[in-house]
Amino acid sequence: SEFSKFPLDPTLLRRLNELGYKKPFAIQTETLEHTLVGRDVIGRAITGSGKTLAFAIPIVQKILQSPRLKRSRSPRAIVISPTRELCNQIYRSIRELDPTVRCVALYGGASFVRQEREIFQGVDVVCATPGRLNDHIQRRTIGVNELQFLCLDEADELLTPNFKDQIQDLLDDSPRDKQMMLFSATMPPDIVHMTKRYMREPIHVDI
Ligand code: AMP
Repeated sequence: SEFSKFPLDPTLLRRLNELGYKKPFAIQTETLEHTLVGRDVIGRAITGSGKTLAFAIPIVQKILQSPRLKRSRSPRAIVISPTRELCNQIYRSIRELDPTVRCVALYGGASFVRQEREIFQGVDVVCATPGRLNDHIQRRTIGVNELQFLCLDEADELLTPNFKDQIQDLLDDSPRDKQMMLFSATMPPDIVHMTKRYMREPIHVDI
């Protein structure tokens, strides 16, 4: 497939093919070359553009390339999105790319204890809404000290007055050298400010 022009793990390439993803969408073509070498990306993109796969691929690739032997409660990747539907969709996209990745979906309205139990089995990727993610961080069911990859999906919906400080805390408390991806339909000043402060020479993509 045309995904093969990117330096993808053979397992991942085969999986994309099996899933029927033959040709990368524009957002994927324009971001993969950068994200796969660890660069930060800001994308102006809407639902339907294929943005989920654009960040799921580099996340899964990173996990595949450096498997952790021990189960850990500190994820290596966190994807924050505004709704439980979106969280579940992202969770499913990551699981279908690689069913062996330890991935959990954390959102409000669902049992905290059940999520906690899942996390205790070990977690590499967290797909979360901001409120519930913050609950888990506050209660120390998950740690943020091993974070290598942070993705903010629909960032304009995330950086509301309620959630802005929590996301900022997460940015401050997790390792400085993590890779960041941010997708948003609009680019309000808050987002521009945050990206300037926390991203390292991000690549801008506008679909
Ligand atoms: P998203 O914008 O991430 O919600 O994706 C929109 C839809 O496009 C989803 O149903 C994906 O499964 C599908 N999709 C994403 N990338 C590709 C691709 N390269 N080829 C075919 N379908 C895709």
